[in-house]
Amino acid sequence: MVATGEQYVNQRLQGIGMTSRRTRERMINRLKEQGITNTQVLAVMSDIPRHIFVDEALASRSYEDTALPIGYNQTISQPYIVAKMTELLMENGSLSKILEIGTGCGYQTAILSKLADKVYSVERIEPLLKKAKDNLWDLDIKNVSFQHSDGGWGWQEQAPFDGILVAAAPSEIPDMLLQQMAMDGVMIIPIGTKNKQELHRVTRTKTGFEDEVLEPVTFVPFLSGKG
Ligand code: SAH
Repeated sequence: MVATGEQYVNQRLQGIGMTSRRTRERMINRLKEQGITNTQVLAVMSDIPRHIFVDEALASRSYEDTALPIGYNQTISQPYIVAKMTELLMENGSLSKILEIGTGCGYQTAILSKLADKVYSVERIEPLLKKAKDNLWDLDIKNVSFQHSDGGWGWQEQAPFDGILVAAAPSEIPDMLLQQMAMDGVMIIPIGTKNKQELHRVTRTKTGFEDEVLEPVTFVPFLSGKG
């Protein structure tokens, strides 16, 4: 018998055992050991099922602290880095409007959607954007708008944003993204080359931009144009 749409979604959400509370709790405990303290971030990461964002063949590894392939030479970010970037973005309180560059499979997008009023997410590879839309639909997430574009342009029509999160590493901070930050807005972005990248937090102040270098990271490169 063919499963109905709803049955199919339910089967996917339930997974094959690896979604047990214990498996997810292990991931949350690991995040706490790694220094994540924001209880809202931890609660959301415990709620969103990471296994539905990866291929079934990789689902049993989906709660490990590792990046996993999602096709098209891209990866779903490691849980620690998703938690860390979200926590940094939220440090001064909750955000109303977030711009995310690099939707990928939509895992980080789903986390952000639970912590902001509205998320705008841009991805250059169209089939990935389609995957992300399907995943968020299955989770009944409705406060996200997507755009197939080069994220280096930001999303001018919706600016300014009080938070910007970039999930791929450019060699320098794209000027258009700086321009689309609200006053007191925060941008979390990896900057560097393939072999050496650092996570930056940029804050827009009355007098300009404050740029803090936080920790070494490894992201896929930020590429120009549509994929
Ligand atoms: N946050 C994602 C991580 C995806 S990896 C997740 O949780 O799965 C980074 C993504 O950034 C890739 O999908 C890649 O295609 C995308 N990307 C790279 N350069 C980009 C650009 N200039 N504009 C938009 N997306 C970009």
